[in-house]
Amino acid sequence: MHNRLRITLTGAVQGVGFRPFVYRLAVELGLSGWVANSPAGLTIEIEGELTEKFLERLETEKPPHAVILTREISVLAPTGQQGFAIRDSGNSGETTTAVLPDLAVCSACLAEMFDPSDRRYRYPFINCTLCGPRYTVILDLPYDRPNTTMRTFAMCPECRREYEDPRDRRFHAQPIACPKCGPKLSSEIPLLTGGQILALKGIGGFQLLVDARNEEAVRRLRRLKGREEKPFALMMPDVETVRRYCRLSEAEERLLRSPAAPIVLLRPSGIPGIAPSVAKNSPYLGVMLPYSPLHHLVMEKNPFPLVATSGNRSDEPIATGNTEALERLCGIADGFLLHDRPIARPCDDSVVRLSRGRELVLRRARGYAPLPVRVPQPLPPVLAVGAHLKNTVAIAIGNQVFISQHIGDLDTLEAREAFERAISDLCSLYHFRPEAVACDLHPDYASTIWARQSGLPVIPVQHHYAHAAACAAENDVRDAYLAVCWDGTGLGLDDTIWGSEFFLAENGRFERVAHLRPFRLPGGDAAVREGWRVAAALTGEGPAPLLRMIEAGLNAPWTTSAGRLFDAVAALCGVARESRFEGQAAMLLEASMAGRRTEASYPLPDGDWRPLLDAIRNDLRVGAPLSEIAARFHNALTDWILEVATRVRVRDVVLSGGCFQNAYLTERAAALLESRGFRVHTHQRVPPNDGGISLGQAVMSLQAQ
Ligand code: ZN
Ligand code: ZN
Ligand code: FE
Repeated sequence: MHNRLRITLTGAVQGVGFRPFVYRLAVELGLSGWVANSPAGLTIEIEGELTEKFLERLETEKPPHAVILTREISVLAPTGQQGFAIRDSGNSGETTTAVLPDLAVCSACLAEMFDPSDRRYRYPFINCTLCGPRYTVILDLPYDRPNTTMRTFAMCPECRREYEDPRDRRFHAQPIACPKCGPKLSSEIPLLTGGQILALKGIGGFQLLVDARNEEAVRRLRRLKGREEKPFALMMPDVETVRRYCRLSEAEERLLRSPAAPIVLLRPSGIPGIAPSVAKNSPYLGVMLPYSPLHHLVMEKNPFPLVATSGNRSDEPIATGNTEALERLCGIADGFLLHDRPIARPCDDSVVRLSRGRELVLRRARGYAPLPVRVPQPLPPVLAVGAHLKNTVAIAIGNQVFISQHIGDLDTLEAREAFERAISDLCSLYHFRPEAVACDLHPDYASTIWARQSGLPVIPVQHHYAHAAACAAENDVRDAYLAVCWDGTGLGLDDTIWGSEFFLAENGRFERVAHLRPFRLPGGDAAVREGWRVAAALTGEGPAPLLRMIEAGLNAPWTTSAGRLFDAVAALCGVARESRFEGQAAMLLEASMAGRRTEASYPLPDGDWRPLLDAIRNDLRVGAPLSEIAARFHNALTDWILEVATRVRVRDVVLSGGCFQNAYLTERAAALLESRGFRVHTHQRVPPNDGGISLGQAVMSLQAQ
């Protein structure tokens, strides 16, 4: 049977070697026709006898990084066309192609780079259709060379030949380059054994590198960067080195080696060698493998663990431009390794951890952004501007929500500028004009203020509703569900600060069914950093002026925050009187369990923390081990989750909010619930922390229609 089909694909189908794959498949099956990128994805026309076979193999043999979201097929009249062609990209139509994230260098390119006979021997910008930068070089869609930051580099004849040959691995590899025609390094790769700090221009911005075995050098980096205690990430030369310093499961090794090549949070093996200041008191070491060819060359010269942290001062966004970096990092770095391939947009290293046997993204940036999350219902064209901390923004196009890379906390002017750039960048990349802006209910968030000034209709979304909706959306939960949304801070509908909320959610409507007994936050924001203040409010014991302040309700707002309860318990137990970064006290409390397993727990009847605190203080008085107290506290919380779920009786339970970055809390809550027949949904591709809020806001905008 002879017929002609037009096939339209959307999804991650550009920049993954899809067109040469289609070309080879069509030629092999003796089909005529053409293939072209379009702003919406990829269009194919095929004519011949084996069109069914073609469709089948299109699914089963598609390139490894391709993701087909939708496939539309229409039948056309045969034209008798001969041969198969790859056509130039069309420029019309709605832009909904998934821009690919940056991909770690592939094994074929690595082999060439270390082959002395290869023309790209030791060339730090080697790439092919299966690997290399994407999101950080794309200026516009469709994904073609003139629309990338490589447009200023004219291909040499040899690169051109590879680029135009459908049988070549570099056919239409847009960032194709070689030592003759491509970007160049500013200087030799330096040795870092003397403890010097190197500012390296990476894929999505500058990184600061220093020998991770050198305590003095690591401390100096902390001092210069103004970063007191937050753990530093490490880059290690290979998996063998990772295995020496960390306990590594097979699944974790897969995460390390994945094309996204994120920072993976791993348990340290206890073998000495890493400077203590890298991750003091943290239960994890954040480790990644070299992911760009340049990183491989740096690690070849320096084959030992390096601190690899984003090139900025604490709380500022990552630097991307050469001049900008020289200015901003000159007081920190001893040397610079620059190159002349511009970075289209900043993209930090992503952070992931294994949770419930699956990948959990905690910071979503390089390697993940801007892949869309597909949602069950088509959404109005809305821009969601996220929360104030760990900000991300998102745009909704039909059934897809495109989420920006991690932008960060919006406390500084630089961060707010990065936030505004991310918005205009995401909108222009997808040729998107929002008809409304979804934002947090909190009037003082920088993102909310921006939304109010945007001139567009504003859709305020309660913070914990957004957490719930984000998690439900990425898990495709459509029935009624119980949402457990626990975090540090989020403005509630009653003007108090929520953070231990249970909602019964159905068709976008939320009923608040349980929460912690409210308590005072003495000093407001100060109580967020200083858990001992909350402990004083909960126990009635503390400095007299503070207690009077609580008594009078002066600058002491009401809250139901689970995060603050963690802080208070950490302070009571002497684990942490205060937090130097968000969630630090809770992290230390989790770590203090030190692997202790017990079924015992404290009473927390209907979320009343008074009996719980009495029991903890009693155990402290009799000298019970800290690990036991911490475990019983965690168990009290998970038992309470099970209690509420049993009372509410819906099958699906969604766990979201920053507290569910806590591995013990999440795993035990999920196990308890599952053992009683509940279906438990936790985050995977979107963070449980406020990095997931923009997705939730976009989804909730449906309710405002
Ligand atoms: Zn490659
Ligand atoms: Zn070349
Ligand atoms: Fe939150």
